[in-house]
Amino acid sequence: MKKAIYPGSFDPVTNGHLDIIERAARLFDVLVIGVLNNQSKTPLFTANERVTMLQEVTKHISNIEIYAFDGLLIDFCREQNAQVIVRGLRAVTDFEYELQLSQTNRVVDPDVDTVFFTTNLKYSYLSSSIVKEIAMYNGEIDAFVDPKVAQLIRQKMKENRS
Ligand code: ADP
Repeated sequence: MKKAIYPGSFDPVTNGHLDIIERAARLFDVLVIGVLNNQSKTPLFTANERVTMLQEVTKHISNIEIYAFDGLLIDFCREQNAQVIVRGLRAVTDFEYELQLSQTNRVVDPDVDTVFFTTNLKYSYLSSSIVKEIAMYNGEIDAFVDPKVAQLIRQKMKENRS
């Protein structure tokens, strides 16, 4: 059984992430989405909120599991018995960091390989940070995220302002 892990912050999940999730879920028997609970970043949404959001927008895909994790990605892969890491590539700017990450992970565990999906052209400009920035200034975000996610972002921004 081929099991892959798609790790990321997903703070929040965008249509660009969803596109990668749908494509990767078609290639592997099980796709585990690993929500990184990163201590060094201050996220907009808690790891649990991000897991719930992902569950909400991936309901139509049956071979998906979603968990929050902290620590090393490679340890999470071992724990999950996954042989593949899935990452997305948007532009050259992603390449250097992603190459370094995948090579390091392969040195740490040669049994785990990284597979890259090139972004759907429609979403090549899209990132969670851009969505948050637009939302912060009350901009329109409905073209970038699922309507339910857009609603949660607006609500969170409102809470943060009060
Ligand atoms: P991280 O903090 O690990 O970069 P992100 O949630 O920002 O987490 O991204 C997770 C993965 O999804 C990364 O591999 C990133 O390159 C990819 N990704 C993010 N946005 C897009 C997009 N619009 N198109 C394709 N891949 C994307």
